[in-house]
Amino acid sequence: MGFEDVMLTGLAADGGLYVPATWPTLSRDTIAGFAGLDYQAQALEVLRPFVGGDFTDADLSADIADAYASFNHKAITPLVQLGSNDWLLELFHGPTLAFKDVAMQLLARLMDRALKRRGRRATIVGATSGDTGGAAVEAFRGRDAIDVFIMYPAGRVSDVQRRQMTTPPDANIHAIEIEGTFDDCQNILKALFNEHAFRDRYQLAGVNSINWARLAAQIVYYFAAGVALGAPHRRISFAVPTGNFGDVFAGYAAMRMGLPIERLVIATNVNDILERTYSTGRYEPRGVQATTSPSMDIQISSNFERLLFELSGRDAARVCDLMESLRAQGSFALSPAELEGFRDSFQAARASEAQISAQIQSLVMATGYVTEPHTAVGLACAGRVTRDPAVPMVTLATAHPAKFPAAVAAVLGREAPAPESVVRQRDLPERSSSLPNDPKAVASFIAGRARAGVPAA
Ligand SMILES: *Cc1c(COP(=O)(O)O)cnc(C)c1O
Repeated sequence: MGFEDVMLTGLAADGGLYVPATWPTLSRDTIAGFAGLDYQAQALEVLRPFVGGDFTDADLSADIADAYASFNHKAITPLVQLGSNDWLLELFHGPTLAFKDVAMQLLARLMDRALKRRGRRATIVGATSGDTGGAAVEAFRGRDAIDVFIMYPAGRVSDVQRRQMTTPPDANIHAIEIEGTFDDCQNILKALFNEHAFRDRYQLAGVNSINWARLAAQIVYYFAAGVALGAPHRRISFAVPTGNFGDVFAGYAAMRMGLPIERLVIATNVNDILERTYSTGRYEPRGVQATTSPSMDIQISSNFERLLFELSGRDAARVCDLMESLRAQGSFALSPAELEGFRDSFQAARASEAQISAQIQSLVMATGYVTEPHTAVGLACAGRVTRDPAVPMVTLATAHPAKFPAAVAAVLGREAPAPESVVRQRDLPERSSSLPNDPKAVASFIAGRARAGVPAA
């Protein structure tokens, strides 16, 4: 299966996740040559081997240029120096102020191009704990070939996040408030995708981070940051606030492609399944606790399945066994060799709510820099792992502080200044439909509105 088909489907028919058949590698010389290129040109070089001819260089470049024209920083993902060898990689300069714009803005353009070429429409159905929804709405609004239905849990997203989904007036955007939790939204999503007749009729497509094209687009900023700090001549470490293991898996992909990454630090909040797996070898979801970093309040870390495939030596049967054990017994154990492989490339740490607020506080005191809770998880964890002080540590800043004003104000006693887009949305009318926690209700809502299922008149 090619890149374009994988992008348009999201999830494999057997329920598994797609990974590249082989990891393309970039030579030292190619990586060294990135030093003279801007972000967009690096993106073309990193993505070309995955796209494999499904998009011409000219089309891919045009979509990359257009995607990043909406960013408000020329470097797209600028680095900020916090200490002698400590850096932040700001990934929040896109339209919805979180790192998900980086991939979503490009994904929307590539999907639209592919669908138009095929003369088809698609229906995007998504579940969001907050940031994916806004990023998808902003990226896909007004696109003729695509309708978007985003479910979010009632009362569990911030006002800023909700308005990003409910204020765009475009007819192809449908925000759905579900009377339930994020897990309920995800379960409805899975039920809809498992209903094969429905899935085919409405040409359902997924844009959650299980969509490989999203992860591919995220590999780019690891290269851009690495090269800016001296790769391939120097090694670099990254600390990545993560819940679904998506962003940090993109870092792993960069490493497999040849970027000299010393360590990838998995940074979690108290929903610490990844940190527990790292320290004990047992993957075991527990109940989710609500935190000030809601986009990481996840206990089923979907993309970890992709790493399992690599750790097992690309043994698909082994991954199926582990997934079956998770379903049947509620957990699985890594083999000693798999655990060793995990610990070779990664480190892991968790940050409590108290450590997160202390981190926000101490960074402001030391540098004046205001950050938000997700990024603070990354910084706190970067500060707790053993490291070689000669290797730069880059923490991924995944959201702008204005996206989580209440959490920032609770620590600092003042909100971060809101960008104009946030202020403007406060006065716009909101449009959202409230539905019960029931896949049937959501299915009939979609059936009444999606254009993909309508036979040509
Ligand atoms: C989605 C999100 C994360 C976690 O991303 P993963 O794909 O789970 O790694 C972290 N921070 C913010 C602000 C997010 O929106």
